[in-house]
Amino acid sequence: MNGDQMIILKLGGSILTKKDLKDPEVNYTNLNRIANEIKTVLDNKSNNSELSEPGLIIIHGAGSYGHPPAKKYNIGEAFTEEQYPKKRIGFSKTQNCVKKLNTLICDVFIDHEIPCVSVQASSFITTKNRRINRFNLDLIEKYLNEGFIPVIYGDVVLDDDLKIAVLSGDQILQFIAKNLKIKTSKTNNLQSKKEVILGTDVAGVFTKNPKKYDDGEHIPKLSSLEKIERFDSTTNIDVTGGMIGKIKELLELADIGIESKIIDANEPNAILNALEGKNVRGTIIKRDN
Ligand code: ADP
Repeated sequence: MNGDQMIILKLGGSILTKKDLKDPEVNYTNLNRIANEIKTVLDNKSNNSELSEPGLIIIHGAGSYGHPPAKKYNIGEAFTEEQYPKKRIGFSKTQNCVKKLNTLICDVFIDHEIPCVSVQASSFITTKNRRINRFNLDLIEKYLNEGFIPVIYGDVVLDDDLKIAVLSGDQILQFIAKNLKIKTSKTNNLQSKKEVILGTDVAGVFTKNPKKYDDGEHIPKLSSLEKIERFDSTTNIDVTGGMIGKIKELLELADIGIESKIIDANEPNAILNALEGKNVRGTIIKRDN
């Protein structure tokens, strides 16, 4: 992380929660370790006068907090007027669960002296047919300029067509990476270089789901959807799109010249090294020039 860079870090629900459990549970081993790594990077930066103001925004997934209620109530699927009362409860439950997760995550960040500020998507973002159509970034830019680290997360939102929808952390990440404009306090210029890092529970993208198959090949660089189409069909589709959903969002960023990297955040120091611009095993998503 250096003064000319804005880093958008996504921490997957698979990393911060125990995703396979029936009841929601935070993975505190990972959360504490990652908070420590982020704090180390921030300290290294503030001890080096060459490096200027913060440029970090954190997005996290919903994991075992968001997916079960969203799935149970089929949030995001079309429904009839009679079904709306039940859907509203499903929306409320999901919103409340992901908010709880966010509070637990921010508790740990704050314990580590990370100046985070929680930002709730459902209170100001809307979608149209599941894609973001209203998202005012002014406040996030202001927090960043004041040295805070905004923490925003996958949530349920109002949708112009479907009434309610699930908004993935991956889509939030894509929108922010595309649209965020931030000035450095030193130069007052718009920061141009944005970097996107996704910490998940596998070392990037493979030709087959590595959780299920041993014979999938690791893909160090991905530049098109073609490779995705050839993936094993079981490629993890959760309510927000799983690995394929992630890659589609990232290819949109690649189209406008923003590179992203998917890394294994279970690996100690992977997040730290990625934030410091060091080489970490994973998959880079960028278009061929
Ligand atoms: P997160 O919660 O970290 O955002 P997801 O659970 O949505 O991540 O997606 C990551 C998961 O995608 C991995 O745990 C892996 O099992 C699964 N997956 C499915 N297909 C693939 C693939 N071809 N390559 C890598 N991971 C895959």
